[in-house]
Amino acid sequence: MIRANDIIDKVADYYPSADFDIIRKAYAYSAYAHRNQVRLSGEPYMVHPIEVANILAEMKMDVASIAAGLLHDTLEDDPMTSIEDLNLRFGDEITALVEGLTKINKIKFKSSREHQAENYRKMILAMVKDIRILIIKLADRVHNMRTLDFQKSDRRQAIAQETLDIYSPLANRLGISWIKQELEDQSLRYLQPAIYRELEDKVARKELENRAFIETIIKLVQRNLSHSGINAQVSGRLKHFYSIYRKMVRRDIAFEQIYDIIAFRILVADKAECYNVLGIIHTLWRPLPSRFKDFIGIPKANMYQSLHTTVIGPDGRHVEFQIRTHEMHQIAEMGIAAHWHYKEGYQLDDHDRKQMDWLRQMIEWQQDVDNPGEFLDSVKIDLFSEAVYVFTPTGEVKELPSGSTPIDMAYSIHSKVGDHCSGAKVNGKLVPLRYQLKNGEMVEIVTSTRQHPNKDWLAFVRTSKARTKIRQWVKKEEERRSIELGRELCEKAFSRVKQSFNQTLKSGKMQAAAEEFSLKHAEALLAAIGRGKLSARQVINRIFPELRKPQKGKGEKEDKKSAQKPVRDGISIKDIDDVMVRFAKCCNPLPGDDVVGFITRGRGLAIHRRNCRHVDHGNSERYMDVSWNLERSSSHLVKIKVMCEDAKGLLVALGTAISSQGANITSGSLKTTIDQKAHCYFEIQIKDLDHLKRVKMALRGVKGVYQVARIS
Ligand code: MN
Repeated sequence: MIRANDIIDKVADYYPSADFDIIRKAYAYSAYAHRNQVRLSGEPYMVHPIEVANILAEMKMDVASIAAGLLHDTLEDDPMTSIEDLNLRFGDEITALVEGLTKINKIKFKSSREHQAENYRKMILAMVKDIRILIIKLADRVHNMRTLDFQKSDRRQAIAQETLDIYSPLANRLGISWIKQELEDQSLRYLQPAIYRELEDKVARKELENRAFIETIIKLVQRNLSHSGINAQVSGRLKHFYSIYRKMVRRDIAFEQIYDIIAFRILVADKAECYNVLGIIHTLWRPLPSRFKDFIGIPKANMYQSLHTTVIGPDGRHVEFQIRTHEMHQIAEMGIAAHWHYKEGYQLDDHDRKQMDWLRQMIEWQQDVDNPGEFLDSVKIDLFSEAVYVFTPTGEVKELPSGSTPIDMAYSIHSKVGDHCSGAKVNGKLVPLRYQLKNGEMVEIVTSTRQHPNKDWLAFVRTSKARTKIRQWVKKEEERRSIELGRELCEKAFSRVKQSFNQTLKSGKMQAAAEEFSLKHAEALLAAIGRGKLSARQVINRIFPELRKPQKGKGEKEDKKSAQKPVRDGISIKDIDDVMVRFAKCCNPLPGDDVVGFITRGRGLAIHRRNCRHVDHGNSERYMDVSWNLERSSSHLVKIKVMCEDAKGLLVALGTAISSQGANITSGSLKTTIDQKAHCYFEIQIKDLDHLKRVKMALRGVKGVYQVARIS
């Protein structure tokens, strides 16, 4: 167990004249407050605050943060501890930190997005008061994740998910990369234990090979750099598991297919040398132009600075280099925490205060390039809803709520401009429609008569005017499409009973039928059919009761069949809410697949994969854009083929791999070939494309498997 003195020694290293008494006092106070508590591991509770304080000392945080780290759970856990009490003993600064941490702990993160936005808001408000609160909270979470084994398994999953959703993005945002990486890896370990173990295993098996490779590269680089008189520190290391895992999922590939799992880092004295080193690396090996990034010239908003380049190294292997100065490296590892490193004096100086303001700004406005839309998107809406002022091309000023997009701007000019807004130029450059306008920008709206409002716009517009107008249009369009579909369904059904739909319509009989169904007019009747609320057969039965009798049995059966409820099953259709939908049997689309809807004659909308050979691209007016509504879960049948060695127990291993990812097997078969290989076919129930990818990855992890493919 770490003692108070271990922490004090660490602090003394970077801040010899610190007030160590405060640390001792906080230690003693916390030990007393937690004296009767035991952690799930069986250790005394005090181990936890000490470890948290120790992490903070390793980050070279100030004394107030370290004391607050020791005290962070006292207010919550010890009934005898009060704010007044802490204030009296430790003063305002430390008490405010402990209070802030206690508040964050009380925020219960729920899974729904609405709740999350509110939680983020509270969290951000708490941390904006003093960013050290968040740094201490992150240290707290690091230690909790390190000791997560002792939690019950469902708690483990929930905590790991929360860490991945909230705390690792926050660490990233604050630029503390070591915390981000550790939290991601720990979360992966609990959320995908099989995959994590597989990665560990595979990495361990290649360790010697990797170490030799690292050494070769380092030697080569060192030699070339010293020839040019550059004194550099070169190191190579394995990328963290979560980033490897993400790459495997994103590109749907096996571990063996990832070549750049090792990254090299070159640290030098100053900026000019960074570019020198870059030149030398690029003369040694050919760079991949798309992978070069200059974060020195253009630092990331979280202060990160570095040059990144990937070259085609020995044996054609891709090798990634990060080139930066020692100072940049410290900031890359520590992020915002680097600014609390003890320099001199106890108070935050002006520089730090400026950093805090800057940080507030960052929290308000930064959009993370690597992780778009994930984190602050949901918060931005209300959090600091100030106005943003932008210019029209004629110099007119428009005031819009912050977070407004070109579409909001277009609607503020005129509804027609909004309805036909197809793009926008900000300061002369084309931007996406979801672009968020910033103060002082000159915004030019591009319109096109072919452009129409889109349901997806509702996800990012801010002004209520835009929202209302888009909804109106969507509703009108939905009506039009439903009528069209209803007409198709009727024409087909009428011709089946040898009646003319057009004549019936002209004769006013449709109108009469509509009234019988308590609908206002014939079009409303057609719309109801298009939406699947009524069947064409029901209408025919009303209008031609005489047709009903001769084929009673059959007619009723058909009636049921064509009156099927709209089966929308996880799919949402642009501009339409209610139509009959079915999934094409020829290509079995899965949520996540790129799909189109085909307006069939009489059988509603058929969903095909876009690359299905039955999709006729020349017949475009019968196709509708559809998209998946991934929040709705449903399962879909998918056939997969696994090619593997014909070994004992393989089928069991494959089955286990499939069910480890929560997929159901509905059928399976196995064929062996003469060369000791096996072809296994499975039909499994899958939620969406992502789910399928995970299953495929789990299968590839089974020893003896060569290939996994989806078949139709
Ligand atoms: Mn804690």
